Amino acid sequence: MAERCVFCKIINKEIPATIIDENEHCLVIEDINPKAPVHYLIIPKKHVVSLHDITPGDAQLMSELLFMAQKCATTLPDPKAFGLIVNNGPEAGQSVMHLHCHFLSGKKMTDL
Ligand code: 5GP
Ligand code: ZN
Repeated sequence: MAERCVFCKIINKEIPATIIDENEHCLVIEDINPKAPVHYLIIPKKHVVSLHDITPGDAQLMSELLFMAQKCATTLPDPKAFGLIVNNGPEAGQSVMHLHCHFLSGKKMTDL
């Protein structure tokens, strides 16, 4: 059965989003509620709930997410500095149960 989560609907173009980049493995969109001047979400097209759920078979998919972050960084003004955050589980702040990386730039995330 097809997944019905909000990110699967965005991936399937059933609901709109501002798309920054896309390849066969992942989609990059603007976060609807940005927490930094640049706030993208790098989302695997495969529905995986969180990092608790990946398997060795997802190794290439995981590396694709990081290479997509590297590609997004090439579009930033200098200094091409950015942070990546993956929240895993509601207690860590995960609100959408489809794995995603927050790509953040233009603001220092100093409280980590
Ligand atoms: P989480 O809290 O799960 O780590 O991050 C989920 C992120 O998805 C939040 O920053 C939230 O603003 C964003 N988000 C939730 N629903 C939508 C949506 O429909 N469209 C977009 N573009 N972002 C969304
Ligand atoms: Zn999904």
